[in-house]
Amino acid sequence: MPKVLLTGGSGFIAAHVLELLLKRGYEVLTTVRSETKASQIRAKYPGAKLSVAIVPNIAVPNAFDEVIANNPGIDYVQHTASPFHFKFSDARTELLDPAINGTKGILQAIAKHAPSVKRVVVTSSFAAIISEAKMNDPTTVFSEADWNPSTYEDGLKGPPPTSYRVSKKCAEKAAWDFVEQEKPGFDLATICPPMVFGPVAHHLDSLRDINTSDQRFVDLMQGKWNDEIPASGVFLWVDVRDVALAHLRAMEIPEAGGQRFFTTAGYYDNARIARVVRDGLPDLAAAGKLPGDNVRLAPGAEKPAQVFGYDNSRATKVLGIDWIPLEKSAVDTVKSLLEIPA
Ligand code: NDP
Repeated sequence: MPKVLLTGGSGFIAAHVLELLLKRGYEVLTTVRSETKASQIRAKYPGAKLSVAIVPNIAVPNAFDEVIANNPGIDYVQHTASPFHFKFSDARTELLDPAINGTKGILQAIAKHAPSVKRVVVTSSFAAIISEAKMNDPTTVFSEADWNPSTYEDGLKGPPPTSYRVSKKCAEKAAWDFVEQEKPGFDLATICPPMVFGPVAHHLDSLRDINTSDQRFVDLMQGKWNDEIPASGVFLWVDVRDVALAHLRAMEIPEAGGQRFFTTAGYYDNARIARVVRDGLPDLAAAGKLPGDNVRLAPGAEKPAQVFGYDNSRATKVLGIDWIPLEKSAVDTVKSLLEIPA
């Protein structure tokens, strides 16, 4: 079976990509930042066709050169590693550099050392598509044709969500520019998910270490929404299992090469999440852990009637994804988080 290099294998999305790749029989080489994370992954998959290498910081020039040069015969690359959190103190070194240098660096390393690679799939984001000024504009329909107009300088200045969005936009743009200018022996596909929800497959010692996009479910099940349901964010979501499937199919399907994929299941809001979790997990509701019917709603807890539109038809058709509904995703997420120590 072909060999796949998966970066950031300890992450929320990457752990699902890893699970799917191994299930489908691929040989996988994954990178993580520390030996602790490497041994956690090895322990989860004893006997699998899996090796784990350490790449401590993807922001560093040539970070991937050694691992790629030392592992001949890689057929495909899935580049997911990139910071997604708002806890940084310096946007350039902690967010923009790893996102942008990491993406450029892996493409350069593949072009230099791995002529066997046929396709690279990069995890981008709806953040690379969105225009912040158009989020309340019902005449806007976001699709793969759109690029976030915010600049690198906007990213340096923040606020944190803008810095994160710029990190993803600049990283994805750098990937397309590389392929256009360098004409390497591989082609590129990018996956652009909005908020990704879903059960966790990566190692977590505690819910305190939850990834950014599932944080709201931890807050919900720990009673933090019982007085007021907070603002939702961008109102578009997708289940992590569909995102993982999109990565796999974008790698396997010939016509996916050269394309961006806006992978979204549609709209959500926090008020709806609270309702579906209450309906799906009545024992948790009965224990007083979930907000009741008449809980106060912060502005943005419910999606207003007038927001931007979206077009996910390319991802639906080309990748053939039958999007997991919010009712299943939200309940599966909370069930999986209930297994992890607080
Ligand atoms: P996680 O935080 O769970 O995963 C991020 C991964 O990147 C981790 O493995 C992390 O390692 C690694 N990483 C971060 N910074 C560095 C660095 N400087 N050097 C080496 N590795 C690094 O988040 P997700 O799984 O959610 O995110 C994965 C990808 O998906 C990212 O590219 C993100 O931008 C994108 N994405 C996520 C969405 C979401 O809602 N979750 C939505 C759209 C896109 P470690 O854990 O050791 O720090």
